[in-house]
Amino acid sequence: MTSQAVRLEGVTKTYGRGSRSVAALKDVTVGIRRGTFTAVMGPSGSGKSTFLHCAAGLDRPSSGSVRIAGEELTGMDETELTYLRRRRVGFVFQGFNLVPALTVRQNITLPLRLAGQRTDRRWLDEIVHRVGLTGRVDHRPSQLSGGQQQRVAIARALVTRPDVIFGDEPTGALDTVTAREILVLLRGCVDTGGQTVVLVTHDAVAASCADRVLFLADGSIVDHADSPTAEQIAARMTRAGAWS
Ligand code: ADP
Ligand code: MG
Repeated sequence: MTSQAVRLEGVTKTYGRGSRSVAALKDVTVGIRRGTFTAVMGPSGSGKSTFLHCAAGLDRPSSGSVRIAGEELTGMDETELTYLRRRRVGFVFQGFNLVPALTVRQNITLPLRLAGQRTDRRWLDEIVHRVGLTGRVDHRPSQLSGGQQQRVAIARALVTRPDVIFGDEPTGALDTVTAREILVLLRGCVDTGGQTVVLVTHDAVAASCADRVLFLADGSIVDHADSPTAEQIAARMTRAGAWS
């Protein structure tokens, strides 16, 4: 077992071709330790989403290597990648991405049903309890608040017991108090679940929940900070011109 949950080596991602091509990631090498919370910050267009998608096996780098829990993604075909994502990875997005016609319970267990696995009733109850949705499992997403919908999305990400949970601004659409609750929930995945969380955020307070913050600029990791305060992060981002 490797101590790194995610490892990128020399990862480059270029969109388009020729004079219109965009280098979204440039030779990125980084390791993310198992059982830690990492925040990824940087100005708009700096490559945060591209980084997350490549690290999670949702998108393929143009060159370089990505490993999740020691498994090399390069060279995997779509079927193998899908299988790896189902076993190893959970995702939480800003837009929740729930299926409106399904109940909370059905949304949460969807990844298992897609994988042809039975749902362990006690595990489902435990997850529903952990995200604070007990009593809501028969509701539809439209009957829930934004914060509750994001809890459903987190429960859905947790149901397969993934090694790594990736989030792309999952608190971006939520009010401050609700966002804080979601962050506490994700932090708990690391502290009590032993999972690894990688979170793209533009919120310095959210990033201050992290063990390490990676700063991206123009497709490169230009800096990192370990257990920084929100004030230190804000100062770093202001220096980077991210908020000007
Ligand atoms: P961020 O999440 O930090 O805002 P992205 O990773 O979305 O940045 O984008 C990085 C760069 O790559 C930007 O210049 C963006 O316009 C470009 N880009 C992202 N996705 C695509 C795509 N599918 N096709 C072409 N260019 C893209
Ligand atoms: Mg983005």
